[in-house]
This record gives sequence, structure tokens and C-alpha cells, in this order.
Amino acid sequence: MRELTARRVCLQSAASDLSADNVRALARRLGVLGWVHPEADGTLRAHLEGANDAIEELTSLLRCAAVVGSVSLAVVGVEGHEQFAVRGVPAGVFVVQEHQATAHHFDFRLEVAGVMRSWAVPKGPSMDPAVKRFAVQVEDHGFGHNDFEGRAGSGAVIIWDRGPYEQGGRVAWPEALERGHAVFVLHGHKLEGGFALQRTRAGAKPQWLLIKRRDEWARSASDIVAEHPESVHSGDTISELLDS
Ligand code: MN
Repeated sequence: MRELTARRVCLQSAASDLSADNVRALARRLGVLGWVHPEADGTLRAHLEGANDAIEELTSLLRCAAVVGSVSLAVVGVEGHEQFAVRGVPAGVFVVQEHQATAHHFDFRLEVAGVMRSWAVPKGPSMDPAVKRFAVQVEDHGFGHNDFEGRAGSGAVIIWDRGPYEQGGRVAWPEALERGHAVFVLHGHKLEGGFALQRTRAGAKPQWLLIKRRDEWARSASDIVAEHPESVHSGDTISELLDS
């Protein structure tokens, strides 16, 4: 077995032909795994894992291509990536709908491969990384339901949060979900930053935990559901909708 190495690469003011797509194509051709992350200032950051000679070749190609800028390299630990991903790019949308039905819960939905993967989260999401929120996976939903807010039978639904999200992790999606561990970054009005879904029990009604990851957006001892109960669509709370 060949020894794997890993490097963190930073391309300062990279040349225009050094798009994330170009770096990805080079990495795929050389069998290098990891990720590339385009920054707002035009810099590209990358984490490269693979055989020594493949990493050498890729980094020398990047050095040659970065005509107007510089390349900095740091040897880092191998993390076991199984894909080469472009980070920082939305994979689709997420929506959280508060749903007063027989039981009150929040429906957490992520766009994955043309459907909205859905979980019922009784207590709703948390921005506190110490809090693990129980989530039961339910049937996939279509996109049409994402915009629904209003009375539903004797209950009601509000759009509690929504926005784009990025897929993360060392394993490609939707494989990451099938294996029961998926990490992602939300860009909502209320939910922001890294989250993880961890499956704890498979079966007909798979059980998961929804957990905020530790990052600059995490807030210890916070209760986002109590602090911001209003719809991001109408500003109404679910009780105002039920009383109207
Ligand atoms: Mn529901």
C-alpha cells in the first residue's frame, strides 16, 4: 500500500484559469482526494490527499498556473477523504417548517438529489453544540411543500427558517446520508454554520441526532426556537396563525 500524504494549499490571488472546477479536474485526473474552497477575495484554499507523487504533480501544476499570485503549502494530517469536493458552494436549499399537528414538531428538510430529505425534530434545531436534538427520518418531500405556510387541518405550518446550504464531510452525498453521518453548512436567517446529522438507529423509522458543530456561529446555552419563534416568511408565530 502506498503511503498517503496530505497538504493544505493556499493560492493567493490565483490566476483566472485556476477556477475551482479546474483544480477539481486536475485532482480527479491525478487521483487526489480532499477539497477546494474558493474564497470571496479570489484566493483558493485546498486540502489534498493522495499518493506522494500525485500530490507533488498537482502542487507543481498549481505553482505553474498561479502566474499572478503565490502558492503556500503546509503538510497536514491525512483525514481519510473519499471524494474531491468543491466547498463553499451551495448544494441546494434547506427549510425548517414548524408544524402544529397531533404532536408539535419541526420538519427539517435538505435538498438532496432532486428531493427534500426530511426529518421530524420534536424540539427543533439548536445553536448549542452541547445539545443533541432527536430527529426521526420521514418520507422525502417534493419542493412544492417548501413554500407552504398556513392552516393544515386543525393545525398549522410556518416557515421557521430557510436558505441555501453546503454539503461537507469526507464522503460524497448522498452516500454520506446512506452511511448515517452527514455534515453540512446552513445559511439561514436563524440557523447558520456547521451542523451534523448522525444516525443512531436504522430501520423503518430511522432515528438520528441533529447537532450544531462548534464554529463561530455556535452559541452555548442558547435556545433559538424560543428566542425566534416567528416565521421568516410572514413574521407570524404558529400560535398567531392558529388564533387568526
Ligand atoms: Mn410535519
